[in-house]
Amino acid sequence: MTRIAIIGAGFGGVAAAAELLRQGFRDIVLLEKADRIGGVWRDNIYPGCACDVPAPLYSYSFALNPDWSRRYPPHQEILAYLDRCARDLGVLDLIRFGTEVADASWDGTAWTITTTGGDELHADVLIPAVGQLSRPSIPSLPGADTFQGPKMHTAQWNPSVPIENRRIGVIGTGASVIQLVPEIADKAAHIAVFQRTAPWTVPKPDRRYGRFRRAAYRRMPALMRLSRGATWALTLVQGAAVAGNPVATRVVRTYSKAQRHIQVRDPLLRAKVTPDEPLGCKRVLFTNAWLPALTRPDVDLITEKIVEITPTGVRTADGQDHPCDVLVYGTGFAATEFLVPIRVTGRNGTPLSEAWSEGAHAYLGVTVPGFPNMFLIYGPNTNTGNTSVIYFHESQARYIAQAVRLIAKGNTPLEVREDRATTYDTEIQKRLAHTVWTGCQSWYRTATGRIVTNWPGKATEYRRRTARLDPTDFTSGATLSALDHREC
Ligand code: NAP
Repeated sequence: MTRIAIIGAGFGGVAAAAELLRQGFRDIVLLEKADRIGGVWRDNIYPGCACDVPAPLYSYSFALNPDWSRRYPPHQEILAYLDRCARDLGVLDLIRFGTEVADASWDGTAWTITTTGGDELHADVLIPAVGQLSRPSIPSLPGADTFQGPKMHTAQWNPSVPIENRRIGVIGTGASVIQLVPEIADKAAHIAVFQRTAPWTVPKPDRRYGRFRRAAYRRMPALMRLSRGATWALTLVQGAAVAGNPVATRVVRTYSKAQRHIQVRDPLLRAKVTPDEPLGCKRVLFTNAWLPALTRPDVDLITEKIVEITPTGVRTADGQDHPCDVLVYGTGFAATEFLVPIRVTGRNGTPLSEAWSEGAHAYLGVTVPGFPNMFLIYGPNTNTGNTSVIYFHESQARYIAQAVRLIAKGNTPLEVREDRATTYDTEIQKRLAHTVWTGCQSWYRTATGRIVTNWPGKATEYRRRTARLDPTDFTSGATLSALDHREC
């Protein structure tokens, strides 16, 4: 029996386990460092946290949910949905909670996995599904250690830290902060938001889903599929804008400008919130509440550079001290450091960190030469700026299930050919060089500028390219090809 170890029980890990179960594999374990499932939806509990991909699309295609309360549901609802899916699909029973993987090494025939607690497990197939946004990035600002009040990253929100009547300093103006600030503005005495770059925003077409809609979805699932299809079509416009289609770009820019003009009357503030980076080089943010929050008398948007954190607040380059009782880092994630801090060692004792010394790369974002029987979910260059990442998870899960079937049938390890992986990587990087993402520094790029997170094409292209595993992409291709054509 093929032993399969999946690292991480977020949307990606659950998708992989569900697909493998569907294909008849039973010896599956999910190693989850926390005490419950959910990945980013478990970790991000800051006030206002919600999905900015519409729920009809931000769900598994095989488990559409008629009960979403609104188009952009809050994080608790998404977490509850994932919980339900994991239980209904039989994945929950396979999870080993409180198990953090420290080390995974290929010993020539199988993977030896060591946990931080010193336990050792063995698996034929290793599926890291640890996500791209799981490790908070906190800048090392001078004096940060001297700050006397509580400080926390948005992804490490501590609900016991009081916000009421406190002066809150918030660093960053990304996807998390634009949700957080409007939500806490009524409670805090004052909020100072420190902006380095103005993000592109557009109105969020959010709405409640009423009783009748939910009842109709329950009775007629085809309606849900229709809603999913319509949402998909909308994301194509956004995708086209990011891909540089001049008409789509103009539509989105105009929409964004109109929002600023309607929501911000003060010309000085409007100038501050007007982006100067190309549209789409960072994630375009959907929000109705962010700009109105910035117009409040008790919220200040500070665009001067932070030079120092002092014991009582933040000092900016103009010499101003901004007193704060609580400091919030909305400074994003170390997204380009895939799999860190897990030490992964492949064939010939090669560390993955060495294979990826110039930036993470993987064939189809899934498989890496020198690392047999290892298949990634949400690996390098599989992030999407405009549609649902769950669509990519499902594509990867199906591809991986084919790989595991071949491994089981052939009783032989599967390792992607170096030449195929190199040709693929060259193609992806060449295409990425012509995308808007080269237009600014973001979590999509390493310090040297290589884009390691994003997929350069349409999601449908990714689905097509991963739909059928080609055995000749692997070192034992010829034998496997013969096996692939033989019925089980
Ligand atoms: P982010 O979008 O990467 O934003 C980080 C912010 O911190 C940026 O404004 C950045 O400024 C600023 N920053 C970083 N280092 C700084 C420094 N040293 N000094 C001053 N400012 C600094 O991070 P995020 O908001 O956590 O979102 C990350 C990703 O998570 C999103 O792109 C999205 O994919 C996902 N997310 C999704 C949702 C959702 O609704 N689905 C919600 C939250 C997050 P610069 O722009 O100048 O770099």
